[in-house]
Amino acid sequence: ATPTSIMVGSGRGAEMGILFKGGEFLEGTQSIQAVLLDKTGTITEGKPRVTDVKTLTGDASDFYLVSSAEKRSEHPLASAIVAYAIEEEFDSLDPDEFQSISGHGVIAQVSGKNVAVGTRRLMREQNIDFSDAESYLESYEANGRTAVLAAIDGKVQFVIAIADTVKPSSKEAIAQMQSLGLEVYMMTGDNQLTAKAVAREVGIQESNVFAEVLPENKAEHVKRIQASGMKVAMVGDGINDAPALVTADIGIAIGSGTDVAIEAADVTLISGDLLNIPKAIKLSRKTMRNIR
Ligand code: ADP
Ligand code: MG
Repeated sequence: ATPTSIMVGSGRGAEMGILFKGGEFLEGTQSIQAVLLDKTGTITEGKPRVTDVKTLTGDASDFYLVSSAEKRSEHPLASAIVAYAIEEEFDSLDPDEFQSISGHGVIAQVSGKNVAVGTRRLMREQNIDFSDAESYLESYEANGRTAVLAAIDGKVQFVIAIADTVKPSSKEAIAQMQSLGLEVYMMTGDNQLTAKAVAREVGIQESNVFAEVLPENKAEHVKRIQASGMKVAMVGDGINDAPALVTADIGIAIGSGTDVAIEAADVTLISGDLLNIPKAIKLSRKTMRNIR
């Protein structure tokens, strides 16, 4: 490899907002065969907002208990719930006790009540029946929404639908990656149904979707694809994505993402526009062709 062409290639990348941490990564990008995309904040904007709240039982005004329970969580879904409570003029209190359960939700004590907010799995673990909520959950999820259950003193009282818009160029970017011969996968901690709806919207086949992946298992999915004989680029924005970014042959971080992800990655896309991924592949292929 001639250092000059690598330097020229890296410079062209930088002009396009694609930052390679070193020439070896510009080189390595040409041999990528699979791209594993994180969903939230990578394929989607990562700015969730509450679109619907269904009250199953009890008083709708108890929603303040839910936002109070989420007040100390740093999860983007918690921020969406707290922002909604502000808009709807619910007063959120400081919880007396609070516990965040990674990949599942939160449990808290607010005004002497036990509040649990999160996934079906969280409810199961707390021995809370959610059969009355199932039809709402499924209809929200089939539309690509993240549906969150909220229980007060052991009874599911609310089903909350949260939307996160797909970035305008994600679908086109994925189509371009596929036409470059890359196998495109999606990974998320979110529910299966929600994940499949989003995958369908952007043109990723169902069998390439890994959903309900716990943060500590994200890197394993990279290894699984590598074990099938492919060189993998992982694209992510979150703290949770860092181990997977390190494990991948090429780790690509979204510039608007967390510092931890950017540090773990080999390449940073300043704008977060996924069209930069096929651009990076083409740039790498072209640069390496010039070299040989
Ligand atoms: P993601 O990759 O979507 O960020 P996470 O592993 O952080 O996934 O969370 C997985 C799921 O757990 C979320 O889709 C949500 O259903 C639930 N969850 C996590 N944290 C919270 C929270 N603070 N409030 C409600 N639900 C939560
Ligand atoms: Mg993310």
